[in-house]
Amino acid sequence: MSNYSEKPTIIFDMDGTLLDLAYDDFIWNHQLPLRYAATHGCTLEQSTQALFQFYQEHNHTLNWYSTRFWSSKVAVDTLALQQEFKHNVALRAGCLELLDYLKSNGYSCWIATNADCEGLKFKLEQTQIAHYFDVIISSESIGYAKEYPEFWQQLHALHPFQINQAYFIDDTEKVLNGAEKFGLQHLITIAQPSSKGQIRSESPYPILNHLTDFIAILEQAEDLKKYA
Ligand SMILES: [Mg+2]
Repeated sequence: MSNYSEKPTIIFDMDGTLLDLAYDDFIWNHQLPLRYAATHGCTLEQSTQALFQFYQEHNHTLNWYSTRFWSSKVAVDTLALQQEFKHNVALRAGCLELLDYLKSNGYSCWIATNADCEGLKFKLEQTQIAHYFDVIISSESIGYAKEYPEFWQQLHALHPFQINQAYFIDDTEKVLNGAEKFGLQHLITIAQPSSKGQIRSESPYPILNHLTDFIAILEQAEDLKKYA
């Protein structure tokens, strides 16, 4: 019989994993270019080009994930912009079903997100899922983005967990690479982070087509333990 302490910690990314990335895509790739063009009196094409260049410069850094950084960089209040469209924030299909399963089966669930503290608070207010999680952490408070093994070292120092047992699910390959460098072994990615985006069929990591497919993975691992 397994007990709580033997169950692996399940660490989830937020945007694109638990939450539909279509919202972030809509804000950053559709609404922000419109606002930027209006603010700076340029065409949508010029605005899109300028933002794309900024995005290229800062992708995978803490700046990239900072609402405050973007607000000052582009002179548009990006948190207010997100709040304006708050009703578009949505959970991915099967999210609550999976979290209910994990909770009722004694798994400790965590969120490790690159969303900054303000963005994280905003998304949790909209989705009301915070009560499922024992640890909720933003890379902003750690000081390193999840792409860096240092993020994981600091997280582990603050909140110890069984590195070789834990599962980490994230829709970004570079983030999974960082976790792998740190030593996490059970890494899983997401087939369709945005409900309006493409479906990924190739990855170095196992791919979840549906969030609830994770239940079968865990049950199989539990069965193997029983007979080990
Ligand atoms: Mg993500």
